[in-house]
Amino acid sequence: MSLNIRRVMPENKTIFGNRLELEKEIFSAVREVPNFPKEGILFKDINPIFQDSALCLRIIKHLAKHYKDKGLDAIVGVESRGFFFGFPLALELGIPFIPIRKKGKLPGEVIEERYDLEYGSAVIEVQSGALKNGDKVLVHDDVLATGGTALAAANLVSKSGAVVEGFNFIIMLGFLGGDEKLNPLNVNIYNLAVS
Ligand code: AMP
Repeated sequence: MSLNIRRVMPENKTIFGNRLELEKEIFSAVREVPNFPKEGILFKDINPIFQDSALCLRIIKHLAKHYKDKGLDAIVGVESRGFFFGFPLALELGIPFIPIRKKGKLPGEVIEERYDLEYGSAVIEVQSGALKNGDKVLVHDDVLATGGTALAAANLVSKSGAVVEGFNFIIMLGFLGGDEKLNPLNVNIYNLAVS
């Protein structure tokens, strides 16, 4: 069975890409799914990006170039779509990747953070000791929507004794104001694509 994956770097593109070029490509790859997972949500499906390995590689190389001199000690990625680019970015930077997961998925001692959703609340966890005191950490996720998840992830990093150095998202849904929720933390927010 052929997976029809594009492996070849297009001739006119550098391995790093620039942000505007990447933004255009990300938007043309991403599929918008109305009313998923519930009525009224326009879901950004990032899965088609993974079919284009050259684009994935340029996203990782671009982010690695952006973050390489920022003195990061670790990247935390938020379950589950924050793992796709968070982990290869950590590999590229040569620093640890720490998964933040939904309650009950991580073995051993954990630190948890509860946060409010539109209806009810959710709990995310990180393994105790995964982050070291004073570690400078980048919080990564695929999409910034209302900012609740990213803020909870940042609170978890702080509870672990580490320091949030910045946030990174592949796509920010600017009209939802998630960045305003994160601004009080006074750290850099870097998005590859903003809609
Ligand atoms: P929020 O806490 O509202 O910022 O939501 C962010 C989390 O929910 C991220 O982990 C995203 O993967 C997911 N998410 C929220 N809204 C969308 C959307 N419209 N399209 C894709 N993912 C979304």
